[in-house]
Amino acid sequence: MPALFLLLAYLVVVLAPLAFAWTSGMPARPFLDELSTGLALVAFAAMLVEFVLSGRFRAISNRIGMDVTMRFHQLFARSVVVLVLLHPFLYTTPIMAYPPPWDVTAQGFLGLEMESLITGLLAWILLIVIVVTAIGRDALPYSYETWRLGHGMGSVLLAGFSTHHALEAGRYSSHEALSTFWLILLGLSAASLLYVYLVSPLLRLRSPYKVRSVRRIAERTWELAIAPADGKPLSFEAGQFVWLNIGPSPFSLRENPFSISSAPASGDRVEFLIKEVGDFTRSLGTIQPGARAWIDGPHGSLAIPGPDAPGIGLIAGGVGVAPLLSILREMRATGDRRPVALLYGNRTETQIAYREELEQLEAEPNVTVRHVLSEPPAGWQGFVGGVNTETTAATFDRFDDANRWTYLLCGPPGMIDSAETALVERGVPSGSILSERFVYD
Ligand SMILES: Cc1cc2nc3c(=O)[nH]c(=O)nc-3n(C[C@H](O)[C@H](O)[C@H](O)COP(=O)(O)OP(=O)(O)OC[C@H]3O[C@@H](n4cnc5c(N)ncnc54)[C@H](O)[C@@H]3O)c2cc1C
Repeated sequence: MPALFLLLAYLVVVLAPLAFAWTSGMPARPFLDELSTGLALVAFAAMLVEFVLSGRFRAISNRIGMDVTMRFHQLFARSVVVLVLLHPFLYTTPIMAYPPPWDVTAQGFLGLEMESLITGLLAWILLIVIVVTAIGRDALPYSYETWRLGHGMGSVLLAGFSTHHALEAGRYSSHEALSTFWLILLGLSAASLLYVYLVSPLLRLRSPYKVRSVRRIAERTWELAIAPADGKPLSFEAGQFVWLNIGPSPFSLRENPFSISSAPASGDRVEFLIKEVGDFTRSLGTIQPGARAWIDGPHGSLAIPGPDAPGIGLIAGGVGVAPLLSILREMRATGDRRPVALLYGNRTETQIAYREELEQLEAEPNVTVRHVLSEPPAGWQGFVGGVNTETTAATFDRFDDANRWTYLLCGPPGMIDSAETALVERGVPSGSILSERFVYD
């Protein structure tokens, strides 16, 4: 329901300019001209809403999940590109900077002056560059942080060029109602940028954290623990994540999303389970206890299901076990005795994190833990392969009401796709499956 509400709100905002144009009372032009203008109006509104979508607002991401929010951000951006690509080529009316005075509605010409032509062209090129470099980000020879800076600054320029072009060259946008709408939307976009890069770090200054410990706990996998410097525990739900920044100041582009692996009930210590993949995660071994840390969060919609769920199925791939560990730990700490089963996939045995703790947890009558390895050692007793129909069945078949359980999935996109397919094939309603992907694409 909240997701549907958000989608409706999105559609209202993005389609509102069309309604303005429709009710403006201006005489209609050839169909292709109207179509072209309509595409641009929708694209411009959608482009400005993108700033809000990527603004880490909990009202959005905690309802539909951060990965879904980011997927919408990507999908809408790609749709905007298609609309904007077509926009200049559909017009059938000739361009003339100063339409003749007798053409009072400028119907016979597109009133496009040099400046608005240039800003339109710059916005057109910049949009394509921004979206193409976002899609091909991994292939670029830049760090994630450099890309993010360029993406943000490019988007601000894009919004500026597009606004100038719309207000100066737009047939409908020069009308007071629509130009006010654009300025409000532009103001909201600017506010969401200010919030992420200025207000949110300023607020974080009031609640610094300190690194308590860093230790290697499995192959290329670390446990990092932080605690609030003022001792005031972070309020979060098991399953959520934060953006973590270790350094002297919260004003930094070096912040990475990590799920909290400790339980909210376990006091002020906040733990993370982190796999080495790039610049920051490979430097974990150099972080000293006592170092300053800052967090933006909690975010995310993964959480312990309500009492309606008779049981809980957890499926993890690699470090995707982090938020699910938080859930298992919280259930134990709060005495939640519902049946809970974890299917935990890894490549090798040495990658299994907290194996002993998981064995202890399994001693509880309501807890089942099953491991699956794609490269098992000789004599391995657990499942072999990946998270698929067979291993899912072997884990959950023993529970009569498993199709009425709620399932929480976390890990790389490929594993989540196979787990979702396996669960849906078993008859689990898709509404009972919640997932968190550790990469957005
Ligand atoms: C919601 C969420 C929860 C996550 N939880 C965990 C966890 O509990 N444990 C864990 O090991 N990993 C987790 N990750 C993945 C983790 O964020 C990346 O592995 C980490 O940021 C890589 O940083 P790096 O500097 O080492 O590598 P880089 O080489 O800089 O980045 C490698 C890839 O990580 C992603 N990434 C890097 N920085 C960011 C950022 N600021 N925002 C979004 N994505 C970024 C990008 O896809 C990038 O291509 C999570 C990711 C998400 C989206």
